[in-house]
Amino acid sequence: MAEPELVDVVVVGLGVGGEEVAERLAEAGLSVVGVERDLVGGECPYWGCIPSKMMIRAANALAEARRVDGLAGTAQVQPDWAPVAKRIREEATDTWDDTVAAERFIGKGGRLVRGSGRLDGPRRVRVGDQVFEARYGVVLGTGTRPSVPPIDGLADTPYWTNHQAIEVEELPESLLVLGGGAIGLELAQVFARFGVRVTVVEALDRVLAIEEPEASEVAAAALRADGVEIHTGVRAERVEHDGTRFTLRGGGAEFTADRLLVVTGRKAHLTELGLDTIGLDANQRYLPVDDRLHVTDHVWAVGDLTGEGAFTHIAMYQAGIVIADILATARQAKAGADASGTSSVVGGAMGASSSLAASGSSGSAGTVPRADYRALPRVTFTDPEIGAVGLTEQQARERGINVQVGFTKLGSSTRGWIHRVGDDGFIKLVADADQGVLIGATSVGPAGGEVLSALVVAVHAAVPLSQLRHMIYAYPTFHRAIESALGDLS
Ligand SMILES: Cc1cc2nc3c(=O)[nH]c(=O)nc-3n(C[C@H](O)[C@H](O)[C@H](O)COP(=O)(O)OP(=O)(O)OC[C@H]3O[C@@H](n4cnc5c(N)ncnc54)[C@H](O)[C@@H]3O)c2cc1C
Repeated sequence: MAEPELVDVVVVGLGVGGEEVAERLAEAGLSVVGVERDLVGGECPYWGCIPSKMMIRAANALAEARRVDGLAGTAQVQPDWAPVAKRIREEATDTWDDTVAAERFIGKGGRLVRGSGRLDGPRRVRVGDQVFEARYGVVLGTGTRPSVPPIDGLADTPYWTNHQAIEVEELPESLLVLGGGAIGLELAQVFARFGVRVTVVEALDRVLAIEEPEASEVAAAALRADGVEIHTGVRAERVEHDGTRFTLRGGGAEFTADRLLVVTGRKAHLTELGLDTIGLDANQRYLPVDDRLHVTDHVWAVGDLTGEGAFTHIAMYQAGIVIADILATARQAKAGADASGTSSVVGGAMGASSSLAASGSSGSAGTVPRADYRALPRVTFTDPEIGAVGLTEQQARERGINVQVGFTKLGSSTRGWIHRVGDDGFIKLVADADQGVLIGATSVGPAGGEVLSALVVAVHAAVPLSQLRHMIYAYPTFHRAIESALGDLS
């Protein structure tokens, strides 16, 4: 067997999180091997956030044009999917080609190894016949894949996941969406606004079930207004495809459509990662990490894989912590080696001393930031947008917190009233009455995701309610509704 090749760090999976770690460590002068089996950049740029938000931008433009009537004259709207598909192909994904991202990583000094990586004992990663040994450690950023439920018949049908939905060039006439979570609702609304007859089937008793019930109601009403049929509390039992159309049966009902999109959650595939070779259990849904993203000694994990929230901003946030931690470790090793006159121990770091010292994100081991998810923001980019941070009212009550709730409808704010059509939304605040701070908030409206930022600061920094009540909110903004919701806290 070939001798393992010694490098500083191996990053397995170059999605949002892994790519950030690999690039920044390479830039700092460490010798970094990045292993990727598909496209450098992962799900977000090719089949996730970016193309889906391009679709949403286009669909919202149609919706706004349809709102001209009664506000500013009349408008005739003729939807056309071709420019959307072209933009996704040419601007977002380079026709699903990662050359630019791969060259960027290599240009920063990284070494890209194409293939599937798996652990092969402590600090070792195998990719086909190649084995790498990582001086400082291995970072896993292998993400998740769609979790497809074991519904009778489903596996034998040509159902869509988010990949086919994003890659679609010609829209079907009708679409069944199995799953009423954030991704399902975003895509359902887009396709409906382009004229597809969309039916959403959700097993739970409301769509967007992880958010506040009021948010679910607004989202469902908005989609219904766009012509989407929504069926909640329906557990799919059987799926058939007759060569042309899908039939889905469940809850005594039957639904048919040209296409079926399955968006029922995502799953990490831990059994492929060789975790057993370092004594870890692969039979878990996610890979648990501590607050410095350590899985175990010399192994870190970032992104969806950790189960801390399937968002690009979580992957990036975690990546920042891992980068600081590894650079601190490398600096300590270098200092130790310099002191003992054996500086070649970090020879792989290519004379890293100057780069490591200059790297702004690094700190000593004592100052590496710790992950804190109290103020985790999440936005469902339906129209209206549904932004949320921290705990929902129910989550707070389940934790035994002395909860106060404040609520205001956007339509009763000056800006909401001016906005008129499309002003559905609200602000809901969840406060810890004993601490006098917000611990959660939901912001729904035309700019719900943007308004959320003020609430994220309030939760993150535990800004006292007394201060929030006595600051100045610009008139007439949507975010001024926060002041009204604060006034309603009881
Ligand atoms: C339709 C959709 C819309 C979304 N919209 C948003 C949004 O608006 N905002 C937001 O914050 N998030 C959004 N997300 C979520 C976001 O895409 C993910 O949170 C993010 O991509 C996670 O990054 P990651 O680095 O954990 O993993 P991924 O992006 O999944 O990347 C993992 C990479 O690892 C590679 N890999 C896996 N196993 C191996 C192996 N053994 N060896 C080598 N390589 C391997 C994969 O090929 C992949 O490239 C959306 C997701 C979807 C599906």
